[in-house]
Amino acid sequence: MTTGDRILLTGLTVRAFHGVHAEEREQGQDFVVDVELVVPLGVAVATDDVLGTVHYGELARGIVAAVERDPVDLIETVADRVARLVLADERVERAIVTVHKPQAPIGLPFGDVAVRVDRTAERLLRRSHVVIALGGNLGDPAATLDAAVAALGRLPGLTLTAASRPIETVALTVAGPDPDKPRYVNRVAVGETTLEPRALLGDLLGIERVFGRQRLEHWGDRTLDLDLVAYGDLRIDEPGLTVPHPRAHERDFVLAPWLEVEPEAVLPGRGPVRDLLAALGRPA
Ligand code: AMP
Repeated sequence: MTTGDRILLTGLTVRAFHGVHAEEREQGQDFVVDVELVVPLGVAVATDDVLGTVHYGELARGIVAAVERDPVDLIETVADRVARLVLADERVERAIVTVHKPQAPIGLPFGDVAVRVDRTAERLLRRSHVVIALGGNLGDPAATLDAAVAALGRLPGLTLTAASRPIETVALTVAGPDPDKPRYVNRVAVGETTLEPRALLGDLLGIERVFGRQRLEHWGDRTLDLDLVAYGDLRIDEPGLTVPHPRAHERDFVLAPWLEVEPEAVLPGRGPVRDLLAALGRPA
């Protein structure tokens, strides 16, 4: 970051229809937005011209339009939407966005409830290439994987560049392949992240939880399994985090969809994915 200069806009009040409850969606309520932008103001000072800064009137109108449209369940989602809008201006280095919901249906006397997101412009952060494997064999796994890819695409700090088509495979259990179990659907998504490996893995496990995976049995049936296959060329072997994923090189249901989206892919420490797949008797 170049300076600590900031623009603040507080108390912007917008009537909108966000919320989990039906009444919130029907009647709407006020959402109050505060934004703090870290933005160098040197050019504005040097020229005394509004072209040298972020125009707070336009900023306010843009935020109101973003908060008014497309009702969602969570003010977290609204805050993220505003932060992305604000950071789209390439002069803004960091955005701190607070969304208050003072009439939230909590059913108890309370002063205020709010969420705050604090985001740095991606262009100022180091990015790493990541490979994520998705799998599931319960419910409607193809639909679950579509929804999970969409969720990954919205994850702050992750930008997906491609996602493979789904492939179907026989369930693998501790005792080996089991044709009597529901078949697995697998996909691989690749992208760029500004998250640290542990933070990304934490978010992957969080998405798994939301999609209702139950850890009943090691290698048991699952709604959604997300594995961090590779993170740049990093090699990590710590409790709770092994990267590259220790079994990726021997799983054709990871290697084949990965090769589909990245034909020149290399698994760090193991070699070209094409060769690994050929070694499993599954030439690309
Ligand atoms: P599993 O049930 O086999 O998918 O294992 C999930 C557990 O493995 C999680 O609690 C993770 O902390 C841990 N783990 C370690 N490395 C990875 C990785 N690269 N990707 C996903 N999970 C990992």
